[in-house]
Amino acid sequence: MNNNIFQELVQAYREKKLAHAFLIETNDKEKSYHTLLQFLKVINCPNEYQENCSNCNLCHLIDTNSLPSLLTVYPDGINIKKEQILEVKRAFQTKPVFSKYNMYIIMDAENLNSSSANTMLKFLEEPEDSIIGFFITNNKENVIDTIKSRCQILLDYYDVDISKQIPSSFKEMAISYVKELETSGIDAVFYNRDVLLPEIKDKKDLFYLFEALLDLYRNLFFAVQNLEVLKDEYQEFKFLLKKNLKYFEKKVDLIMEILDEINYNLNISLVLDRFVLEGGDS
Ligand SMILES: [Zn+2]
Repeated sequence: MNNNIFQELVQAYREKKLAHAFLIETNDKEKSYHTLLQFLKVINCPNEYQENCSNCNLCHLIDTNSLPSLLTVYPDGINIKKEQILEVKRAFQTKPVFSKYNMYIIMDAENLNSSSANTMLKFLEEPEDSIIGFFITNNKENVIDTIKSRCQILLDYYDVDISKQIPSSFKEMAISYVKELETSGIDAVFYNRDVLLPEIKDKKDLFYLFEALLDLYRNLFFAVQNLEVLKDEYQEFKFLLKKNLKYFEKKVDLIMEILDEINYNLNISLVLDRFVLEGGDS
């Protein structure tokens, strides 16, 4: 599911139906923030905005977060404090000089407490045409009602690439493990006991290891099928590409089963041994 807000906002802008405040629920706040900046360039760029406009000073100032009329507020500690909102208000008492809009982006909007939210209300209740605001959150249900009810709500969801979330230590662990598995076969149960068990402390570690294994064997599977090239970090497994598709299919299926099983079975040693014993050539 990739429900990107960019087109939606641009369209509303072109139709002159842009709201004054938006509450954006997203599964990736950084990406959402970046998307918003692209949109703010569209509505402020003095030229006919081209993707990655770099001709104009204004787009450059937005990219480098140095446009005075664009303020981003992050929680100060746990909460977004009233004082932070007052600063935005003060800055926006005058009309913007370089850009068309005064713009604010409130990150982690669920951290607005009732006092900072109250301070915010003036913007929301007496909207000025030159001010536009965005509240970004992971869960709109956690945002205080007085804010939520005055915003247009948008969902901004991105495809999650799980392989990018696996900590690199586990990717390395998976690479060493597969080297061992593919050379010693069933004897890898000793590797489980001597090398992996001391490293794998809990369910989360086990999950990361198998997600990393999944990424590796999936890449091999698709490489054998000629649908993907072997990723740089897996080049040392080139020698495995002579194996048939079935071999990798079996591994991938087994890893998927184990990933399911990790949700309810937490005998780490059994899970690891199962992978060795059931994943071998046969
Ligand atoms: Zn520009």
